Amino acid sequence: MIRKALVGPRMRQWAVSSAALSLALFTCIAAQAVSAADCPGNPDALGTSRTIVVDPRQHPRIGTMQYAETLPLRDHEVVLSFDDGPLPRNSNQILAILAAQCIKANFFAIGQMARVYPEGIRKLRDAGHTIGTHTQNHPLTMNRMPIERAKAEIDDGIASVKAALGDDADKTLAPFFRIPGLERATAVEDYLASQGIQTWSADFPADDWRHISSQRVYDLAIQRIEAKGKGILLLHDIQARTVAALPRILATLKARGYHIVHVVAATPDRPATPTEPQQWLMHPPLETVAISHWPKVPNFAVADADALAAPALSDFTGKGGELVPLAEPFDRSSHRPLSRATPWPAAPLFTDSAAATLPVPALTVFEIPELPHPTAETVALLAPRSEPTPLPEPKSPPAAANGGNSRRAIRGKSGRGKRLTASQELSSPEPSTQEPSSQAPSSQKPPRGTPATAHARPVRLKHLVQAKRRNV
Ligand SMILES: [Zn+2]
Repeated sequence: MIRKALVGPRMRQWAVSSAALSLALFTCIAAQAVSAADCPGNPDALGTSRTIVVDPRQHPRIGTMQYAETLPLRDHEVVLSFDDGPLPRNSNQILAILAAQCIKANFFAIGQMARVYPEGIRKLRDAGHTIGTHTQNHPLTMNRMPIERAKAEIDDGIASVKAALGDDADKTLAPFFRIPGLERATAVEDYLASQGIQTWSADFPADDWRHISSQRVYDLAIQRIEAKGKGILLLHDIQARTVAALPRILATLKARGYHIVHVVAATPDRPATPTEPQQWLMHPPLETVAISHWPKVPNFAVADADALAAPALSDFTGKGGELVPLAEPFDRSSHRPLSRATPWPAAPLFTDSAAATLPVPALTVFEIPELPHPTAETVALLAPRSEPTPLPEPKSPPAAANGGNSRRAIRGKSGRGKRLTASQELSSPEPSTQEPSSQAPSSQKPPRGTPATAHARPVRLKHLVQAKRRNV
């Protein structure tokens, strides 16, 4: 289905070169599938839905198990990746299974394995799979070894795989690399990026390197694919349990509507597949998340007008020469205009001489209720208050100095002096703590909020009467 013209001769060559009897059946199936269009030997084949071209320099690290970005896959798209090969016994079976399904995958080969079994590398190439590298010796200490040693592991692995590929190695070997055990290190990743090599992690493993059953490998693979819905599946083509689990994994993916995507690297002759940055995220931002997408300004009908039309005089009406806007009465509930005469009262609210019609206020409106009048004797006692006294005049405002008209004047020193002045006029030689006047302020304390002038005079009168009685 994908590049069948190129893959066909390669698969036929691969089938002929295979001598193992156990692989003959798979080889024949693969050859038949590829020799005909769109995997005709297997009408139920999963197939390879599409091939994407990626540029390692634009996206140097992929795989959400460790990195922010992953391949720009659509929902229900899966990339199959296989590590640690080639190992003839199991790797060839993996190749046969993939060929039977017309599937193209991504492989990460170990340099030492390529040295021992270079034919396995060439089988990958001839089958049309993508070949990356996985170090020379598969150390699980890339995260803590000296960078120079890490560089040697990387470079030696590439050299070994290239040696197996032969003359067209530069065109065949992809600049893809996976760190053994996913033991990543920034220095290692930076070195790979500087070489234009893309570091591949994964989106979900199947734990097929552990001592678990093939059923468990199948369960983990399907569960984890379903959990994310798309991504890179990490498998190992050297494991027998993977060989046993892979056919069921592919059958389930087919049944559940998944598609297989093949990944190749960009070259000068093969530009990268156009993508948007958010496609490289496993979970792009939702529409409900605020991003810099602002609505365009509406193109109002008046936007192109140079000026609005001036209102005509007929739009206004009024009385007495006044201009009154002629509003359009509108019934919001029925969305229909109302009669113009309905909403407004016929009679004017005011006349030209409104003041003439108002009633004249009576004189009683302006009367001020009189306070209780003191007796003539009290008036006589009050008279000396305006005369000079022997005590110094307080430097207080007139209201406070008015003979204890405020609470402050009564309690304060100046107020006390004023009271004493009045008492002395009544021949009281000295103030006493028992003098009723000292208790008067508290007992005559007005209710809160009562104006001071409203109660000042009764207090003064009582004080004076009591002082007089004591003196009699
Ligand atoms: Zn590995």
